[in-house]
Amino acid sequence: MSHYQKPPELYDGLRLHQNENTGGCSPRVLAALAALRPDQIGFYPPYAAATDAVANYLAVPQERITLANGLDEGIMALAVAYLRASIGGPELESIVPEPAFEIFRFDTAVAGGRLVQVPPRPDFSFPLDEVLRAITSNTRVIFVTNPNNPTGVGVPLDAIRTLARRVPPGAVVFVDEAYAEFAGETFVRDLDAYPNVIVGRTFSKAFGLAGLRIGALVGAPDTMDAIRRAIPVYSVNIAAVVAIQAALADLDHLHDYLRQVAESKALLYAACDRLGLRYVPSRSNFVLVCAGDRCAELVNGALERGVYIRDRSTEPGCAGCIRIAAGIVAHTRRAIAVMEDVLCAAR
Ligand code: PMP
Repeated sequence: MSHYQKPPELYDGLRLHQNENTGGCSPRVLAALAALRPDQIGFYPPYAAATDAVANYLAVPQERITLANGLDEGIMALAVAYLRASIGGPELESIVPEPAFEIFRFDTAVAGGRLVQVPPRPDFSFPLDEVLRAITSNTRVIFVTNPNNPTGVGVPLDAIRTLARRVPPGAVVFVDEAYAEFAGETFVRDLDAYPNVIVGRTFSKAFGLAGLRIGALVGAPDTMDAIRRAIPVYSVNIAAVVAIQAALADLDHLHDYLRQVAESKALLYAACDRLGLRYVPSRSNFVLVCAGDRCAELVNGALERGVYIRDRSTEPGCAGCIRIAAGIVAHTRRAIAVMEDVLCAAR
């Protein structure tokens, strides 16, 4: 498939198919949005305070932060900055260890780069040696997601350090940390030592701001320079600017959600064990479940009952797999009841 197939716009039921925060944002975000004045909306947005808030949250100097209209925009800018070939020059390559966030493939194509896919291992552990073997003098980006989507499997930070030492000059290792809060691990502390690594963060997941579209890239200013030029000057809007500051001022809301996600994952694992379904233990806010030849039945049966889960069976190494978001515990209980209903009804 040459372009991204957006999941259908399903909003009437329980959305567990896009790894969103099922509880939504902090009430402080709503208060901040309600307090926006007409003049703030009339003016182009200022970014210093929001950038500072993100820098404080990640404990990095503010010059390392670039805000983007969702991490999606940051990834596209990175692809354009690093994978666009110069006239008469060689085709530049991205390496994507699969299965991966599909956007890496599509953005590589948009930028005119050549995609080098590294197939998964059976247990989805990070294929470090295979990725190292895929590096060439034309490699410009290695896309790594920690923890990975759609598997929820973590990447050892040491593997990222090894990649950063082995890529050719002018190349970057992109560490997508969209789900880092759930794993409690980040590469951000290593960025001083590894200036050719760029970390991507989003506030769509743990902070529940997906509808406002805000993310950030973190890295050495020189490495980020070309990316900054590829991001439209005012791409983050004022609603996202005030929302991110309010969200980061309410870490209790975040921590409560992280606790619920952990409990939800335990409930999902137990349900899979009862139902005889294999699953991949996850460091993220979703679980990849192997339903084998019952995959379509489960996805469609849940859809009919108003619960949306994601068929991932066409992703490399994921035949028969579905991905289910783990959020608010009551939502997970409902999803489990629906899964049990579908699988038992079909027997
Ligand atoms: N990276 C990964 C691995 C993701 O799963 C997602 C969201 N599905 C994103 C980036 C994009 O996040 P955002 O909502 O900030 O664009």
